[in-house]
Amino acid sequence: MKDIIVQKFGGTSVADTDKIKNVARAVIKEKNNGNNVVVVVSAMGHTTDVLVKLAKEITPNPSLREMDMLLSTGEGVSIALLAMALQAQGCNAVSMNAMQVGIITEKIHSKARILEIKTEKIQEHLDKGEVVVIAGFQGVTDDFEITTLGRGGSDTSAVALAGALKAKRCDIYTDVEGVYTTDPRIVPRATRLEQISYDEMIELANGGAGVIHPRAVEAATQHNMPVRVRSSFKLDNLGTLILGVDEMELQRPVTGVAADTSRLRVVVCDVIDNPGTAAALFDGLANENISVDMIIQSYARKALNTNDIAFTINKEDLTKTKEVISGLKQELGYSNIYIDDKIAKVSIVGAGMINRPGIAAKMFRTLANIGINIKMISTSEVKISCLVDESKANEAVETLHSVFGLDSDEIAEVKGDLPNV
Ligand code: ADP
Ligand code: ASP
Ligand code: MG
Repeated sequence: MKDIIVQKFGGTSVADTDKIKNVARAVIKEKNNGNNVVVVVSAMGHTTDVLVKLAKEITPNPSLREMDMLLSTGEGVSIALLAMALQAQGCNAVSMNAMQVGIITEKIHSKARILEIKTEKIQEHLDKGEVVVIAGFQGVTDDFEITTLGRGGSDTSAVALAGALKAKRCDIYTDVEGVYTTDPRIVPRATRLEQISYDEMIELANGGAGVIHPRAVEAATQHNMPVRVRSSFKLDNLGTLILGVDEMELQRPVTGVAADTSRLRVVVCDVIDNPGTAAALFDGLANENISVDMIIQSYARKALNTNDIAFTINKEDLTKTKEVISGLKQELGYSNIYIDDKIAKVSIVGAGMINRPGIAAKMFRTLANIGINIKMISTSEVKISCLVDESKANEAVETLHSVFGLDSDEIAEVKGDLPNV
């Protein structure tokens, strides 16, 4: 039995037809190594952003179902073009969308989770010696509604497919040479990591390191699937291996730094301080699929029997969040809601910070030294996050990166531009 390798190519890697021909060469190279190859592709270049812009020109609040219908078309273009490029280079290949494969998701538009992947049809094609090119990012419900997995979700499609197919490895090809200690677009002296553990990568990805989708790392953990993030422009470079814990990383207290500007802070003031109030609020949000990140409940004002509850949400969930809170006016009894949308969450991540006192204090001191005020703090075993002013995010990342000894002597190479639509 041949091993299966899943290769995923992001938007920059398939941005034009020359790049698609280049991807076809990388696929054939892997096939010539004696492996069966399944390829997952994203939409070309900034296609998804352009589609979002078109929708917003029609209406500021398009329905999520129609957004999924629209955005899923981007990946449909790339799979057909890549299959053609492979065929033109003499390699038998077939393209398949999520409906044809059977990538079954929850019935939630715009951020569905994968529930099951059917492998029979893929396996039939592989058995015929074909490369199977599959659309990332999209899914289908059991009643044939089209869904998408959230922005950046092609990574998740690839890792979930690798898990379902019991692949040997999943390679994520992108426009940087691997996972760096921070975004090399913000800190050019970021250092490429040879390896990083699943736990650290989940925290970095949730902290805003857009190089891989957080749910892709969750899927990798679940299947114990080794994932390699590598450059589609330097095919011989090994990039970064994401895998179970290794001994190495415990020697470094901090592995990476990330910033996330996609969230905003909601403060619900003067909430009744009774058992069940927080439960009512967060149940209400969960029922609307609104994911909440940092949460702080302030010290109770005994005389008034109230406290304040602050939390962060994705910016696009603001309207729904306000509706949920006003619908709970009776239970929560709050006085007013305060929204702060000019914030960034800055995180330091490292498995080596466990049992190493002083890391948090060093982070807070570093931010204080450059005059940055901390609005909220949250921690996990391997992460410390501080909420700061959005305008200070890059300075915070650069300074923390340097203070925790992560700067490299070399300048990292980044291909492709940031979206400008
Ligand atoms: P793709 O289209 O291939 O999925 P993405 O734009 O989603 O590519 O992800 C790659 C980008 O992730 C890089 O260009 C880089 O700017 C950004 N990035 C953020 N944090 C990191 C990090 N820690 N290491 C590497 N890249 C990072
Ligand atoms: N095309 C989708 C996006 O731009 C999915 C992906 O690229 O991973 O978010
Ligand atoms: Mg991506």
